[in-house]
Amino acid sequence: MTSWFAPGRINLIGEHTDYNDGFVLPMALPMGCATTLSPATDGWSVVSVQEPGEVRVRRSGLSGRDDTPDWATYVLGALWLLHDDGVEVPPLRIEVDSDVPSGAGLSSSAALVCSVVCALDERLGLDLGPAGLLALSRRVENDAVGAPTGGMDQLASLRGEEGHALFCDMRDLTSQSVPFDPGASGLALLVADTRAPHRHADGEYAARRRGCEQAARQLDVPALRDVGADDLDAALASLDDDELRRYVRHVVTEDARVLEAVDLLRDGRLADLGPVLSASHASMRDDFRITVPEVDTAVEALLGAGALGARMTGGGFGGCVIALVAEGEVDAAGDAVRGAFSDAGFGEPELFTASAAPGAHAVEG
Ligand code: ADP
Ligand code: MG
Repeated sequence: MTSWFAPGRINLIGEHTDYNDGFVLPMALPMGCATTLSPATDGWSVVSVQEPGEVRVRRSGLSGRDDTPDWATYVLGALWLLHDDGVEVPPLRIEVDSDVPSGAGLSSSAALVCSVVCALDERLGLDLGPAGLLALSRRVENDAVGAPTGGMDQLASLRGEEGHALFCDMRDLTSQSVPFDPGASGLALLVADTRAPHRHADGEYAARRRGCEQAARQLDVPALRDVGADDLDAALASLDDDELRRYVRHVVTEDARVLEAVDLLRDGRLADLGPVLSASHASMRDDFRITVPEVDTAVEALLGAGALGARMTGGGFGGCVIALVAEGEVDAAGDAVRGAFSDAGFGEPELFTASAAPGAHAVEG
């Protein structure tokens, strides 16, 4: 039987640039979600290895959405949207199984949604193509679940390539693979999941987004992406609100850092990426103010242990930190984070190294 696998992702650099029409540089992870579809006779059912019970929908029920547990919305959302689009969806049993930790900022939701959408695309002969798969996966999260994600997660999960990061332009949703193979330079990408609870993340995210849109209006540009690095000083001088100034400085310099990172990777200068990652963290901490003590502590511990660079990844207020570390120093760097967390009285972090893995694909089982 064929399953469809879609990975989680980690963003190497480019945070809160997506909704400003800017640039991001995620990569697909080896961990992901597998979706298996099998024929059914009476309606639809959804099972997740990670959730108790089975969610059943009666034959007449694809337009009614009440009483669906939140997690099943990520799966049934694709069926609802296809049904709304006039697609005849036959009865199916849908089974999902994921090893992406949920809510850690590694995009377990995109892994789940993209694997379901790819499986449905093949099973129903939809032939959505790359743009259609991306559009439907985004609609599931934005419209069915109601999560205001910008599309990076789905781009990385669908289009990631082994040994490559994915340089994405979030204005037109185009992407290009860029070599990213730290092992070839004797380096490793170390991930520290701080397991910090996401505090006020939704409200803070909305406030940053509103602030960026307000700044773009005041600067009379369609989005902050349109403020070039050379125009930054003039833009800052024309704003009268210090908070908006900090937001603009983060977004404009972060876009520039993504472009710099892409140039470095294309030139094979991986070690030089380190300071760019650390500068991104400082910008998120001091200007955009989306870090929390756990992630700042992890970054400091990693840099103190000799990492070439380190930064929080993801929307902020918790989640994961990434660091570029010499292969021989991975264990010491991990110990440094554990020690710092223990000293600070934080919970145990989870540490692992990550390599850039392929995007969504069929798996014969
Ligand atoms: P992230 O994408 O960063 O992991 P989200 O809050 O966007 O965090 O998505 C997490 C949600 O996705 C979970 O709360 C759950 O509803 C759903 N989800 C993810 N993986 C699974 C799974 N294997 N089975 C059921 N639901 C899942
Ligand atoms: Mg998500």
